[in-house]
Amino acid sequence: MLMAMSVEQNIKRIAIYGSTGSIGTQALEVIAANPDKFSVEVLTAHTNDELLIKQALRFNPNVVIIVDDKKYTKVKEALASTDVKVFAGEKALEEVAGMDYFDLMIAAIVGYAGFKPTLKAIENGKAIALANKETLVVAGDIVMRKAVENRVPIIPVDSEHSAIFQCLVGETRNKIEKVILTASGGPFIGRKPNYLVNVKREHALQHPNWTMGAKITIDSATLMNKGLEMIEAKWLFNLRPEQIQVIVHQQSIIHSMVQFEDGSIKAQMGVPDMKLPIQYALSFPKRIPNSFPRYDFKKVNTLTFEEPDLKTFRNLVLAIEALEKGGNLPCIMNAANEVSVYAFLRNRINFLDMTDVIEKVMQKVPYIEKPTLDEYYESDGQARHYAADLIKL
Ligand code: NAD
Ligand code: MG
Repeated sequence: MLMAMSVEQNIKRIAIYGSTGSIGTQALEVIAANPDKFSVEVLTAHTNDELLIKQALRFNPNVVIIVDDKKYTKVKEALASTDVKVFAGEKALEEVAGMDYFDLMIAAIVGYAGFKPTLKAIENGKAIALANKETLVVAGDIVMRKAVENRVPIIPVDSEHSAIFQCLVGETRNKIEKVILTASGGPFIGRKPNYLVNVKREHALQHPNWTMGAKITIDSATLMNKGLEMIEAKWLFNLRPEQIQVIVHQQSIIHSMVQFEDGSIKAQMGVPDMKLPIQYALSFPKRIPNSFPRYDFKKVNTLTFEEPDLKTFRNLVLAIEALEKGGNLPCIMNAANEVSVYAFLRNRINFLDMTDVIEKVMQKVPYIEKPTLDEYYESDGQARHYAADLIKL
């Protein structure tokens, strides 16, 4: 009996925000393979009620949230024979994040929508496994300050940042000279603007190495994803902009590197599979065995490295500007990017228009050097408004 109790206490209670997405479903696979270590307590979905219901029936969480409240009755009825609590609406995301149903939140909602619930969980003292990089792009200073105040670990799920995080284990007293973020280059590597102007959504949605949600797949094609990741790295690892370098490595085997003050470089490698960084974020500081595919050095493999083409992929230039100027500029850029990607996915603007919209919005919304939380919210709103105006959404 005593034994059983102590085993029980070691189970980490997990909330998956965005459980129906690419990261969310892979996180559930990791948890399903380790029922002795993790239990699913909270699942949330935006509109995909059917998958949410399936997940709830399989994992028997304490709470599910369906953000789209038109679907509340359907979810409630489908789970009537269980004791799963069903909540609906955007506010419920924050409310549940402030309660004690879980020990660790996997922040896997896409975009700005993930920001407030994640911040709430931090204020609530809950550990965060962070996939939602936009949270740090929007207001990284406030998020990291609150994490320190509440002694909350923010463990990266993004593969590059997980790589850096893993390279830093055991190096607490050693200074980072720089980090090298690897980028696959996306599906349009080597292409020029005259080609990109005609690219359609179906083509842009094909990523060579990773299968991900639509927004991040487009961000990878424009290289905005790498720009967001530079800003994410700045906050996670407390770096100056000039300490963050991006290098294109098409094979996605080296997930990123850290160079220390003595010039030594550590890399973290493996086949591209998000389940590994997800699992590491859940099990940190331990590693747990798994049967994911292994990298095979005996196969013919050449690892290549090249500079990103900043003349063609100008989103990365805009993101570097936002990284360097800081303040509310990353927040403005993020909002303009979300609206642009949304419009591109609906065939309202072409591939290169996305950059023009983001650039114009970054010039238009007033710059604030040290924004308050409310000023970040306002900047986000203004940027969305102006971007939608430009696109005539
Ligand atoms: P996805 O589109 O597959 O899933 C998004 C999830 O968020 C879904 O569960 C959806 O229901 C939910 N969601 C969407 N809009 C919402 C809203 N307005 N309110 C509440 N919930 C909402 O996205 P993804 O690829 O899983 O990416 C999730 C996050 O992880 C993103 O921030 C992305 O940048 C990051 N990330 C993803 C990958 C990957 O391989 N997919 C890798 C690194 C980082
Ligand atoms: Mg990444």
